Amino acid sequence: MRLLETHGCQGGAHAGYVRAGWDVTGVDIDRRHARYYPGELVIADAATYIREHGHEYDAIHTSPPCQWYTRGNAPRRGTETRWERSIPAIRDALQSTGRPYVIENVKDAGWDMESPVTLCGCMFDLSTTDTDGVEIHLQRPRLFETNWGMKPPRKCDHSHHTWVAGAYGGARRDKYEAKYVRKGGYVPKDKEVVKRLLGVEHHMTWNGLYECVPPPYTEYIGVALSETIEAWRSPSSLISTARRASTAVLPPLSQT
Ligand SMILES: [Zn+2]
Repeated sequence: MRLLETHGCQGGAHAGYVRAGWDVTGVDIDRRHARYYPGELVIADAATYIREHGHEYDAIHTSPPCQWYTRGNAPRRGTETRWERSIPAIRDALQSTGRPYVIENVKDAGWDMESPVTLCGCMFDLSTTDTDGVEIHLQRPRLFETNWGMKPPRKCDHSHHTWVAGAYGGARRDKYEAKYVRKGGYVPKDKEVVKRLLGVEHHMTWNGLYECVPPPYTEYIGVALSETIEAWRSPSSLISTARRASTAVLPPLSQT
């Protein structure tokens, strides 16, 4: 099945969907990402491309820019003209296609998302050994809004993890200082460690890793999404069609 992915950046989400068996086409307005994106990348405005071509795909994933929503950027929100409240316009475009969709964003954007589901590294046992031999676990909650009722595999729980780590800019790179002095997040200094932690196998820059949707998250979504679409299309789903008609959350799906 064919998936359209907008705001593809350096292809973290892309890699997971490919592992789940999807044929992925990316769209990004920033031509520079084409150097790192691991598949076909169309240079175009996301909302425009979705409105014009979204119906040609079986499903659509979007990661609208998060800068406007990020709490740390709030003081600059009024003066930074490149940033925008990006989710509503993208959702409108997605809904115009009648296709199942996924909108990914950061926790700070949760108020602008409809019933988002959290996925985190702990749900997929994402962990690796740091350069000092210490076992570290990925703590990277990301929100996902869908119009097809995606459920998380389990709850976010790090209570049994001694050391957690993430991947974002501006963090301290000393895990002991991060945990015991600043009581904040830790990002490993070794890029290969961060890649293993995120489940990334292809080349990315540090900025790509900071913005990356870990591939195991979208692999999980991709499997659930294709199972959902197959269930909708199977003849035996006639029974569930009646049930579907009684719930307003599912989109109209054209038979292809
Ligand atoms: Zn977690």
